[in-house]
Amino acid sequence: MAIKVIDEKCIGCSKCQKSCPFDAITIENKIAVIGDACTNCGTCIDVCPTDAILQEGTEKIIRDLSMYKGVWVFAEQREGKIMPVVFELLGEGKKLANEIGTELCAILCGSNVAGLTDELIAYGADKVYLADAPELEKYTTDGYSKVINEAIGVYKPEIVLYGATHIGRDLAPCLAVKVNTGLTADCTKLEIDPDDKKIRQTRPAFGGNLMATIVCPGSRPQMSTVRPGVMDKAVYDPTKKGEVIKLNAVFAEGDIRTKVLEIVKTTADIISISDADFIVAGGMGLGKPEGMELLQQLADKLGGTVAASRACVDAGWADHNIQVGQTGTTVKPQIYFACGISGAIQHIAGMQESDLIIAINKNENAPIFEVADYGIVGDLYKVIPAIIDELNK
Ligand SMILES: Cc1cc2nc3c(=O)[nH]c(=O)nc-3n(C[C@H](O)[C@H](O)[C@H](O)COP(=O)(O)OP(=O)(O)OC[C@H]3O[C@@H](n4cnc5c(N)ncnc54)[C@H](O)[C@@H]3O)c2cc1C
Repeated sequence: MAIKVIDEKCIGCSKCQKSCPFDAITIENKIAVIGDACTNCGTCIDVCPTDAILQEGTEKIIRDLSMYKGVWVFAEQREGKIMPVVFELLGEGKKLANEIGTELCAILCGSNVAGLTDELIAYGADKVYLADAPELEKYTTDGYSKVINEAIGVYKPEIVLYGATHIGRDLAPCLAVKVNTGLTADCTKLEIDPDDKKIRQTRPAFGGNLMATIVCPGSRPQMSTVRPGVMDKAVYDPTKKGEVIKLNAVFAEGDIRTKVLEIVKTTADIISISDADFIVAGGMGLGKPEGMELLQQLADKLGGTVAASRACVDAGWADHNIQVGQTGTTVKPQIYFACGISGAIQHIAGMQESDLIIAINKNENAPIFEVADYGIVGDLYKVIPAIIDELNK
């Protein structure tokens, strides 16, 4: 046992017991006793008011966290185009970096992607780490994780942020294991603890019924995947200067075990509700799949796109790519029409940051009206054609 209690100093206050993530501490005869469930994490040492707890032995190497500096953003690109979530991560990363007093960096992998570094710098990166190699043209877990793992080993960032895209969700856990650090998936809020400057990562858990705030006290870098559409985009400043650092992206035979044969895009992939300024979303109140066509007419009038609740997707009326909500996409359009959507918490989680919410629902007590800026109580099949008529005038 490497965690030890000095009995003479222990006052039995039970602070260590409450702090132990593994319920390994009991108070016996007003003295803390460390049990078998102890993982030697050291959390109890920090909370003890009388310095009665010590860590002995070498079972867990306490890393020198002061060596880790900088907030990094994984600059995911596809076919030479930076994913929109990267600009959101740079915006959020800048705030975090300013609060810690460190620099904001981007890490970019791909083939012939050096031209994208200026854009990353204009969106706030002080430095861009660039891994440019033919082997990185298409995303592979092995290829990307190898170069980023090596870069983390050399440059030691304090925080690394990834978009919670399919690629980010694949890459981040692989790297967290390689680097032996903590990762919080699908975060919706990030903030710096003013006391110890660690990042507090908040994400919905248990079907959105609980918001869990997670910290990574003893390992570096602290890593999060962040939900696209939740954070504000960085401001674009073409005059901003930054440094590009080339990484050594060299691969041996067998380093990359996956061979990408073909990338097939569905039509639905091309429609992006996360970028739309106007969204007309429908729910079960449509009553039938054909109701989506009426929504499309309103969306076309506004130059926007249609979206749906999960219930509609489950019913087969809409594709998952246009599902708004906790298990779908988070959107922040200028106007969000919620038509025949009751306003379940899991739906609201994905659209409540919209600039203006207009709800159309037959039931005046529907929870959607609690988040709506304008509410229309009525049958959507009467209200939407009336809105279209007015827009036509
Ligand atoms: C783990 C988990 C994750 C989830 N993730 C999501 C998610 O990402 N996105 C999501 O949307 N849901 C999600 N859900 C489901 C969510 O809890 C709700 O079941 C769902 O949002 C309800 O969809 P709805 O509002 O379309 O349908 P309903 O709740 O059935 O509401 C239909 C509404 O239409 C109104 N209405 C009926 N007829 C008309 C009419 N003619 N005109 C006007 N109004 C009418 C009714 O008054 C009612 O308010 C999730 C659930 C779980 C458990």
